[in-house]
Amino acid sequence: RLVSLEGGEGAGKSTVLEALRIALGADGDEVVCTREPGGTPLAEMIRALLLDPAHEPASPETELLLMFAARAQHVRETILPALERGAWVLCDRFTDSSFAYQGGGRGLDAGFIDELERRVVGLRPGLTLLLDLPVAQGRARALGRDGRPDRIEAEQDAFFERVRATFRARAAAEPGRFRIIDASQTADRVAAEAVAQMQAWRNP
Ligand code: C5P
Repeated sequence: RLVSLEGGEGAGKSTVLEALRIALGADGDEVVCTREPGGTPLAEMIRALLLDPAHEPASPETELLLMFAARAQHVRETILPALERGAWVLCDRFTDSSFAYQGGGRGLDAGFIDELERRVVGLRPGLTLLLDLPVAQGRARALGRDGRPDRIEAEQDAFFERVRATFRARAAAEPGRFRIIDASQTADRVAAEAVAQMQAWRNP
């Protein structure tokens, strides 16, 4: 009952999350909507630390370990208790983002991330929806929106190409868990397709 949503910058995750939340809850089931990095007060503080431009940039290793520190707390405080009471958990990013950003993007060893996943997280989503979008298009969208452009300004296209390639490779390696959605369509179409894929997974 854990569903994650993954994708690069500007892929339209927020719109899709809202549509999925409504669809999952339509029968009266509890839906816990959460995000990474974050999802508990402590994990949100780690997120704020990670995204704060006031300090020097985090080294790749620091970033990875802080992501997993936040995730460890998130899994234990929010995700597992919700799953245990039978709720759906809808998560905006999960461990696949660490493989994509800290692994593919920043070049850290995937075997090390695997090990952290096994020891610290210990679970994978039943369904992962990947919003896939060409890098240039994602960049244009992310720069056009309000709020923090953060990573989109700090990194070159090559970084985001590696992030995208890693997401796609993971999806190809685990077709049972992943559904790839073409996020270059209009927001409404992307959301409709995400909901349709989720329903097909839930009621095969
Ligand atoms: O998805 P959202 O925009 O909230 O992510 C916040 C920022 O954290 C983004 O810039 C994303 O690239 C970054 N991030 C990351 N590694 C992760 C998860 C998110 O670099 N594992």
